[in-house]
Amino acid sequence: MKDAKISTCANPQCGAEFKRLGEGKLFVRRAEKGDKELTQKALWLCAGCAQHFDLRYDRHKQEYVLVTRRRVA
Ligand SMILES: [Zn+2]
Repeated sequence: MKDAKISTCANPQCGAEFKRLGEGKLFVRRAEKGDKELTQKALWLCAGCAQHFDLRYDRHKQEYVLVTRRRVA
């Protein structure tokens, strides 16, 4: 099983480099039965993006999608 590799922020418009755990928000999802790929999925959002975005797993696409967080009034 391959190690999940995280290199940059999951926001393609950001591209911040992943340096160490503890910064930003890490999303890890273990592979389940029926998954095409049996690799562990891991994505990371930098601290700045984590304030505005979330990652949600889309079962149909079988990948994480970037979603905008609701603003807290
Ligand atoms: Zn970012």
